[in-house]
Amino acid sequence: MELSTIKGLGEKNEKLLQQCDIFSVEDLLSYYPYRYEFLNPSTKLFSDEKMIQAVNAVIEGEAKVSYIRRNFNSLRFRVLIENKIVQVSIFNRAFLKPNLTLGREITIIGKYNEKKNQFVANDIKLNVVKESKITPVYHLVRGLKNVNFENWMLDALRKPITLVDKIPDHYLEQYEFIPKSKALQYLHKPQSAEEVKRARLRLIYEELFDFMFKILYLKEKETKALGLERDLDIKKVEEFISSLPFSLTEDQLKAIHDGLDDLQSERRMNRLILGDVGSGKTIVATLLMYANVLAGYQSVMMAPTEILATQHYLSLLKLFENYPLHLELLVGSMKVSEKRKVLERIQTGQVDIIIGTHALLSEQVEFANLGLVVTDEQHRFGVNQRKNLQNKGYRSDVLYLSATPIPRTYALTIYGDMDTSMIEVKPNGRKPIITKLRKEQELKEVLAAIYEEIKLGHQVYVVAPLIEESDSEELKDVNLLKEKFELAFRDKVSIGVLHGKMKSNLKDEVMKSFEQGDCNILISTTVIEVGVDVKNATMMVIFNAERFGLATLHQLRGRVGRNDLQSYCYLISNQDSERLHVLEESNDGFYISEKDFELRGQGDLFGVNQSGDMTFRVADLKRDYKILLQVKKDVAEFLESGAYLRNSYYMNLVQTIDFTN
Ligand code: ADP
Ligand code: MG
Repeated sequence: MELSTIKGLGEKNEKLLQQCDIFSVEDLLSYYPYRYEFLNPSTKLFSDEKMIQAVNAVIEGEAKVSYIRRNFNSLRFRVLIENKIVQVSIFNRAFLKPNLTLGREITIIGKYNEKKNQFVANDIKLNVVKESKITPVYHLVRGLKNVNFENWMLDALRKPITLVDKIPDHYLEQYEFIPKSKALQYLHKPQSAEEVKRARLRLIYEELFDFMFKILYLKEKETKALGLERDLDIKKVEEFISSLPFSLTEDQLKAIHDGLDDLQSERRMNRLILGDVGSGKTIVATLLMYANVLAGYQSVMMAPTEILATQHYLSLLKLFENYPLHLELLVGSMKVSEKRKVLERIQTGQVDIIIGTHALLSEQVEFANLGLVVTDEQHRFGVNQRKNLQNKGYRSDVLYLSATPIPRTYALTIYGDMDTSMIEVKPNGRKPIITKLRKEQELKEVLAAIYEEIKLGHQVYVVAPLIEESDSEELKDVNLLKEKFELAFRDKVSIGVLHGKMKSNLKDEVMKSFEQGDCNILISTTVIEVGVDVKNATMMVIFNAERFGLATLHQLRGRVGRNDLQSYCYLISNQDSERLHVLEESNDGFYISEKDFELRGQGDLFGVNQSGDMTFRVADLKRDYKILLQVKKDVAEFLESGAYLRNSYYMNLVQTIDFTN
């Protein structure tokens, strides 16, 4: 149903709603509140300093605004509560001033300090709230207010709309779930906390059921899918292995053998290599690409950034220096003429191994006989992007590499549609990275440590969370840090700067000078997060470490410790959080992810939010893990019994999956 049928929803708002992925009334109703405000306003002040309270008050004095910093102001006014004059302050609400007229009754929400007779508000309701009320709170975009959503939802709930219920009848009955329409009612206009709870439970189950169905159906399909059956030249592969400058770990060898078996089998390979940062996944993929080329097919490897793709390309060029293999790089920033040449060479089969970025997904890229598709850092790509590349070949085998160290149990569920090889032990000779948590005041010590490393001829990464100067002084940005460092080190060191907004040729230049050791310190944003490999780098310094998830920090730290030198990591943060100590304690990605899961929930753990694969509206994999396990059983039963064949939603879904895979 069209959005314009909703009362008070004009064209301008329709545009704004599109930013929330809302294009219809159905979408609107599926836009769930992310939290609720339980307001039970009182006319009395409680003297408990720590308690957040909602109080009704009458404005008694004119409001005054003071501007503290750019984008930071304070609004102050007096109110009357129970015959008592109280001073109220609230930050960044200067715009409310015209509404705060003398004598107006409002509800203020915040904390009261009796000694100072001061009420620090974090919210003000201009229309006084008389009775206790539950307000759903929605994620907003600029230009939309929460009350807009509240009103539109009320109208939408009255429309004769039925949203598909993805829970099959059998399970609806078994668990006595409320019907979908009722759940929406409860969610957008709850009368009690109990209603919210009941609605959420069934929506979580529904969301996970749908998610799990896709995974298990794909898995079943993949196990049947035909691949390319090849005769492999195992002897040549083994020769290559023994020519490597290092010996492979047992886990690496196991992963290679799993992969070789897949290549030989008539079944299509659909394998994930899961291994912590620095565990040596690239060489495993390289060997399999080589085996595939020997069997007469092209191999392609897709990486999420140009830096990474280029690095893979250069290191493979070196590895295959003495082999009659043709390699090419394909990235977005290449000149059109250059690209055209490469495209032609790919199409005519003159290239054996192609390495590139998203640029590979372009329609113009056609392969002569693609046999193996490798996706590095697979969590950075959406399912469709991965499939898109795979579909450029006929029955191509598929290999994914991922360093997202997620707890094993979760991995098995989430990656349930793939075969998995784990690389758990890192190559020998690696010393654990010594990690230290330091406060900003202790920067001197850190600078001294950096200088020690540089004197030894080693290199240092410095990571800052933001690119541009920010309003918040807490956050360091790369340029500011550069100045600071230059001041500290004078001309004794050379410093490079790297961030996402730079032109890619400039980025490459900086990266190259760091790789060649011309530059001692590389200050960057998290663009270096994935994959970059500079063996001589032995120290990682991360500012505002509290801003990052443990998984990200661990990945960043993994940029050092890439040879047998002792490496260090400094986490700079003024907050003393339990979370960050986990990194001091451990270098084990799986352990860290387990802890992260415990402390934060699914959060940024998977790093996949960008790709949209794993974003849930109501479910949370950690919190709802038990439900997920039950759902997995139910879905397996639903598939096996063939009941899905009689369910129109799932039949449609199956057709879509079949069509795109
Ligand atoms: P990741 O798994 O994070 O992608 P890489 O594949 O980039 O890790 O490997 C990290 C580094 O370790 C690379 O420089 C690689 O050449 C090296 N390496 C890989 N396997 C071994 C091994 N068995 N022994 C020593 N070094 C290795
Ligand atoms: Mg890698």
